[in-house]
This record gives sequence, C-alpha cells and structure tokens, in this order.
Amino acid sequence: MELRVFTDSRCLGHVAPPGYPECPERLAGILSHLRGAGLDVEDLAPLGSAGMTGGVGAAAEPAVLPDAATTAAVLDLHAEAYVRRFERAAGRGDALLDSADNPLSPGVWDAAWAAVAATLAAADWVMAGGGRTALAAVRPPGHHAEASTAMGFCFFNNVAVAAEHLRRRHGAERVAIFDFDVHHGNGTQHLFEERADVFYASTHQFPFYPGTGAASETGEGAGAGATLNVPLSAGTGDDGYAAAITGQVLPALRNFAPDVLLLSAGFDAWERDPLGGMAVTAAGFEQWGEWLRRLAAELCGGRVLAVLEGGYDLDHLPGLVAAHLRGLAAG
Ligand SMILES: [Zn+2]
Repeated sequence: MELRVFTDSRCLGHVAPPGYPECPERLAGILSHLRGAGLDVEDLAPLGSAGMTGGVGAAAEPAVLPDAATTAAVLDLHAEAYVRRFERAAGRGDALLDSADNPLSPGVWDAAWAAVAATLAAADWVMAGGGRTALAAVRPPGHHAEASTAMGFCFFNNVAVAAEHLRRRHGAERVAIFDFDVHHGNGTQHLFEERADVFYASTHQFPFYPGTGAASETGEGAGAGATLNVPLSAGTGDDGYAAAITGQVLPALRNFAPDVLLLSAGFDAWERDPLGGMAVTAAGFEQWGEWLRRLAAELCGGRVLAVLEGGYDLDHLPGLVAAHLRGLAAG
C-alpha cells in the first residue's frame, strides 16, 4: 500500500476577495501539515521553480498550462464555449463567473487548470500499479461545476474529469465516485447521471446548498440505478454517517464493483465547519478512510484517488485531511 499526495503550487494563486472561505490558506495549511507528517508530496510546479535558471538540484520548469492533455481531458466533459467564456472573463478581469460564489482573480485561470492537471497526475500514478492511494490536494474545488456553468467556488469538475480520463485513457470500465462533502455534488451527478459506467454516491446535508441530491434522484435512462443519494438531516454526526455509509454507500459500491474508487473528499461535514451544519469528528473521517481502504482492496486492487473538495475551518482542516489519510493508508 503506497500513499502519495499530488498538488500544484499554482492552485495557491487564486486569491478571492476577503470574506470568501475558499482561500489559498486552506490548501497551504494542508500541504504544510502533510509535509510535516513526512508524507510524499509531489508538486507539479514547486514554488520558485518558474523562472529559475537551473543549476544543480533546481526543479524542472513546470508545464505551461493548459497543456494539450489537460485541455483534452477538460473538453471531454466541459463545453468548449464554457471554457472560452471562463478564459475571456478571467482575461478581462471580470469580478465573477456565473455566480456570486465564483469570484475571479488574476490567478484563477491557472489555478483551475493546475487543479485538473494535479488530479490527472494523481490518477495516472494510481493506475500505474496496484495498491496505490493518492490525494489530489487541489483548489479551486470541483464537484459543483456543471458542463457549462461555474458554481459554488468550482470552475472545472476535477473529480469528474479524472473519472472520464480513467475511462477513456486508462481502460477502466467502471469508475465509482463517493462524495462525502457536506454539500451535494450536483455537477458530478449531472455529468454522469445518464451513464451506467460511472457510479456516483453522495452523503450530504439536506435540504441544503445546492438543493439537489434527494434520495429519489437515482440516475436517468441508461444510468438508472447508477446514482445513490443519501440525504442527511442537519446535525448528523459520526453514528448517523456510519449508518449511511455502512448501510447504503458501501453495499452499493460493492454491488457496482468499480475498477477504481474516486472520492470527492470534502471535510465540511466536520462538527465546527463554518459552512456545514453537521457533527462529524476527526475520528469519523479516519473511520471512513479505513472502511474505504478495505473496500478498495476487496474490489479494485486498492486503487483509490481522493480529490479535495470543501472544508473551511483553516485551523482544523489539515488535521481532518491527515486523519482521513491515516484511515485510507493504515494496515
Ligand atoms: Zn462543500
């Protein structure tokens, strides 16, 4: 069992106006904590690498984004007109894209592409051997992004783009995504709800932003039955989540039998998250990791790709991520 963290320092370059909880400090704190804990963190664009003139030990120049491969992966799911609209709005210096929750910044275009690129690098690494677990430690997050609409701090749907990349370029026939962010991943659900090859399961506070994710939403057409929503009432803690995950999510994933397991790993169901209204503890996130590790070992050669979504308590988010990774990596 190997664990590796993938990131790209350009993800830190999207600085929203004051008051937006989706800020660079979220990711900076996570990376600092994980490095301090001795984890292997692979940075696609280490700070200070750009512009260095070389020399012994100097990092390679990071790839200019968007590169051809990352562009192709994004355009597999997002409309080209949307990508161009985002580019124009960012280039003009517009304040927002599509929603008051999606402020633009001078670094947002590069950050959004870097988040996808680091997620794809993590996906490629997971598929290059058995028993590999990766965390794509990226921002902006992705699971609210629709094919043609930015929403909820999200511009490109990182986890969904990775799922499609695994289908098309790694020969994975069945990909499962479990989204445990406190918010429902409307974008991910909508991108795959008519398909039988990508299973989407979500536990989330309900009713809550973004409004989707009722238990009755189970997939459409060929995708009927390949969506599982487990809406939970405000205040749900470790016991309620344990019942939902062991009673519904894990059996559904086992029944689907994926070739690789993806996680939309949001930590805003934590008991004191400023955006969420749930009561999950650090021990809860660790326990979920253990369950998911065992399930992945049983179903898909231990291949797990966790992609960071939400989590907004700057002081505690790094510890929550570390707790979940302990569970995913233990044993
Ligand atoms: Zn969230």
